[in-house]
Amino acid sequence: MVLNINGLGLSLGEGEEFLKTKAASLLGVPEGMVADLKVRRRSIDARRARPPRFVYLVTVRLKEGVSLPPAKTGAGVTVTEGPEHPGEPQGPAGRAPFAERRPVVAGCGPAGLFAALTLAVRGLPVLLLERGKAVPERLPDVSAFWEKGVLNPESHVHFGEGGAGTFSDGKLTSRVKNPYTGWVKRVLVDMGAPAAILVDARPHIGTDRLRAVVVNLRNRLVEMGCEVRFGARVTDFLIRRGRLSGLVVNGEEEIRTDRLLLAIGQSADDTYRKLAERGVAVAPKSFAVGLRVEHPQEVINRIQYGRWSGHPDLPPADYFLTAKIAETDRSVYSFCMCPGGRVIGCSAQGGGVITNGMSCFIRDSPYANSALVVNVRSEDLGSGDPLTGLVFRRQWEEKAFLAGGGAYFAPAQRMTDFLAGKTGSSSLKSSFLPGIRQADLREVLPPFVAAALKRGIEEFERKMPGFITEEANLIGVETRTSSPVRIVRGEDGQSVTAKGLFPCGEGAGYAGGIISSALDGIRAAERLIGSLGD
Ligand SMILES: Cc1cc2nc3c(=O)[nH]c(=O)nc-3n(C[C@H](O)[C@H](O)[C@H](O)COP(=O)(O)OP(=O)(O)OC[C@H]3O[C@@H](n4cnc5c(N)ncnc54)[C@H](O)[C@@H]3O)c2cc1C
Repeated sequence: MVLNINGLGLSLGEGEEFLKTKAASLLGVPEGMVADLKVRRRSIDARRARPPRFVYLVTVRLKEGVSLPPAKTGAGVTVTEGPEHPGEPQGPAGRAPFAERRPVVAGCGPAGLFAALTLAVRGLPVLLLERGKAVPERLPDVSAFWEKGVLNPESHVHFGEGGAGTFSDGKLTSRVKNPYTGWVKRVLVDMGAPAAILVDARPHIGTDRLRAVVVNLRNRLVEMGCEVRFGARVTDFLIRRGRLSGLVVNGEEEIRTDRLLLAIGQSADDTYRKLAERGVAVAPKSFAVGLRVEHPQEVINRIQYGRWSGHPDLPPADYFLTAKIAETDRSVYSFCMCPGGRVIGCSAQGGGVITNGMSCFIRDSPYANSALVVNVRSEDLGSGDPLTGLVFRRQWEEKAFLAGGGAYFAPAQRMTDFLAGKTGSSSLKSSFLPGIRQADLREVLPPFVAAALKRGIEEFERKMPGFITEEANLIGVETRTSSPVRIVRGEDGQSVTAKGLFPCGEGAGYAGGIISSALDGIRAAERLIGSLGD
């Protein structure tokens, strides 16, 4: 007999080896009758008033002939019958029709990599073009930026193998429900990601593990017949009578193709401009800007775990906060929280400062950080140009650069000073790379964003007492939570003005985050296959 038990709890100090005992006791059978137990999902219940505990969904197989007394299920625990195993998640399958020309994928982030994998699995190995460098060559460029403030505009946190997610926390949370989510995680594990991502409710890989994963995935693509070229920037699009006929690489090499999967992320301003120049439909979209907040991790642990904070079983705590500011009809929310991580400089163009967060798999830094952002609507931008969002965010990144002293240091302010409207009360400690400089952060934010943030932070304190503290610092500016531009596509996934062009991932404006961009890449690849023969 096979049973699923949802809500099985373990207290702090009880290892997973206790799960069998607990399951047997719950079912009222001797432990020896439990032939097999598989963890399917694991989460932490850390509601502040009571001791944190781990909550599991497990599948239990009982030995033949066990008769089951009525289960003694407690509150929040359900027992249902089978199935034996949910089975391996299924990926894309079936042979694609013959393609006259090899499809091209531009961009080696999650969207491009999973699009290429989908096409290869279905028998269409592609040419994969990436403007940045492979991970081993990219690493020294990113380090030179963090350590010496030297920015290589073609090789940084946004550009290069693995895309923008390579230097991240590698959180794999996504609100999208999609049958391929399990397959994406399975592939990541096969490529070297920790197996825990298959069961954790809030899975994350960590930048240290991700760097190897993306290299392994590229090698797998090559084994499957794909050609991967780094330092290959798509600089122009050949479009005739509303149909793609090719593209130009690095301003000199023409490549003929009638199908291009465009997975360029949100930081290729030059590519967006070229698309608009060639008549590819682009439209403004709402996005969000703000700051990054950094607390000592211990402070967040204390708030979330109370007196159990510091228990060795507990991972560094996280949070997710939202506030609606009624007077101004704005939302303020925390985003991309990195427990045990660090705040990093992610400049994409010279003369701009951008913040974001990153952590290693074990999340062992003494800091917790998160973006705190406010929604920006296209009406806020005050121009009919669909690319104004690029100019808007750039303007604040430049202000942050100047406020930080012009060497890619980020402007920073104690949270309590920001709320009180003063600066420089005493020196600040931060994990930020390359470094911080005290400034008045209202100067580097649109006034409506600064005002909403102040109100939002006060609201967060109400929801999570202790959030406002002398020990928390704000660092600016966070401008790349999502793309301010959409490359408009139709029901068939193709650009509405250029057939054969399949915009996807975060840069197309239809996805955001590692998992959702990977899934959008898969969807785009399937739509590309569906278009063969048109
Ligand atoms: C520091 C940081 C931390 C993050 N943390 C997380 C996290 O923990 N979890 C999460 O879900 N998301 C996180 N994100 C967001 C996530 O990384 C992105 O949503 C995701 O990478 C988008 O995937 P993508 O493939 O659409 O684009 P990208 O990952 O941006 O990849 C696009 C690729 O296209 C290349 N490219 C651009 N223009 C051209 C061109 N003209 N020709 C050829 N190649 C080109 C770029 O070099 C880049 O490699 C983080 C982002 C950053 C910057």
